[in-house]
Amino acid sequence: MDDSMNDSMNVLVCGGAGYIGSHMVRLLQEQGHTPVVFDNLSTGHAEAVPEDCLVRGDLRDKSALRRVFAEHAFDAVMHFAAKSIVPESVTDPALYYENNVAGTLNLLDAMREEGVMRFVFSSTAAVYGNPIDGGAQGNGVFTMDELHPVAPLNPYGHSKLFIEQVLQAQARAYGLRSVAFRYFNAAGAAPDGELGESHDPETHLIPNILRAALGTGPELHLFGDDYATPDGTCVRDYIHVNDLADAHLRALGFMRREEGAHTFNLGNGQGFSVRQVLQAAEEVTGRPIPHTISPRRPGDADVLVADSAKARAVLGWEPKVTDMRELMETAWRWHSDQKF
Ligand code: UDP
Repeated sequence: MDDSMNDSMNVLVCGGAGYIGSHMVRLLQEQGHTPVVFDNLSTGHAEAVPEDCLVRGDLRDKSALRRVFAEHAFDAVMHFAAKSIVPESVTDPALYYENNVAGTLNLLDAMREEGVMRFVFSSTAAVYGNPIDGGAQGNGVFTMDELHPVAPLNPYGHSKLFIEQVLQAQARAYGLRSVAFRYFNAAGAAPDGELGESHDPETHLIPNILRAALGTGPELHLFGDDYATPDGTCVRDYIHVNDLADAHLRALGFMRREEGAHTFNLGNGQGFSVRQVLQAAEEVTGRPIPHTISPRRPGDADVLVADSAKARAVLGWEPKVTDMRELMETAWRWHSDQKF
């Protein structure tokens, strides 16, 4: 069965004005679905979504949630709305538990009240904590599958794991169908340059590199070059935002046929070091990227690379952007002519 093909659905997209959510909304519309975006615009952008599908509201406001459910008959909910800056979660955990846990519980309550029983949840590789190295696999890189022990190192990862466990319990008790996607490093932008990553403050590697290239941001601080990796810099798995969106689309079809709460890693299975990313950016932009070696950032693991075999096998998902240069080109097109 091809889970990328679905009948037209009404989909509530919480956090649909954010980076990953806005690419999702676009894909849903392209595929003939009807997304309604619920977003408090705290980090998202109204310009990122069509005006007629945006409802401004906060997940902590139960009455606002009830209103949006009363006004639409949703077939499914996708939930991208979350606080997601790891260091901020360490200094302000209350903010993270309130938004990511209490807000999500409100959303699940509203769904249950209205009998909406399909839920796609944005989780994270941060649920795993430090990789427990079971030995290098075929390509010489240790990858983590969904059976890797979970041990989040910070309130952000913990808040996401907590909801994954809530979804397991609600599947058993109420028959809620759900898919939790553990994203590795979301990256890239819409190839036509109309949508992309726009955070303030920006903490992620690729936007910081491209801002340094453009001179619209400070020189890049490369956090640590003494890790246990071939070139000493951290290795991560960068997955294109449209590949993430494609997996979510497939989850809608999957939940039509499968009960229960399911968890999938989403990554492209290749590791790139910070230096390799920097080099790809210099090639794509044709500019030197001013950078300086800075101390390690607390909490960074040496290597985080996904084993996404389960998503490939069960959802028929296949990341299309596997080349770092191609991914970087999409990000560069966005950053060099940023629309919002
Ligand atoms: N990084 C860096 N400088 C930056 C931002 C990130 O050297 O300005 C490094 C970071 O230490 C990590 C990698 O780039 O090794 C990816 O970091 P990012 O914040 O993009 O994603 P994370 O892996 O933390 O989710």
